[in-house]
Amino acid sequence: MSAPLLSVDRERCIGAGMCAMTAPDVFDQDPDEGLVLLLDAEPPVAHRAAARMAAGVCPSGAIILHEPESGGA
Ligand code: SF4
Repeated sequence: MSAPLLSVDRERCIGAGMCAMTAPDVFDQDPDEGLVLLLDAEPPVAHRAAARMAAGVCPSGAIILHEPESGGA
């Protein structure tokens, strides 16, 4: 099973761009509307801290993190 670790809700996104600035390897913005584009739904460990931070700074709560239940910190 490989449930995605991250998802984005483009309906909620307001194009603030915080995610793409915080985790440019994981998020981008589409050039027309400026809405979030998810580049990597299962980012490698090296990018997960940034992805988590991006979810925290998103002003509209459009980034959904699916943390695994187990696996330690
Ligand atoms: S930070 Fe949130 S509102 Fe801003 S572009 Fe990213 S997903 Fe959209």
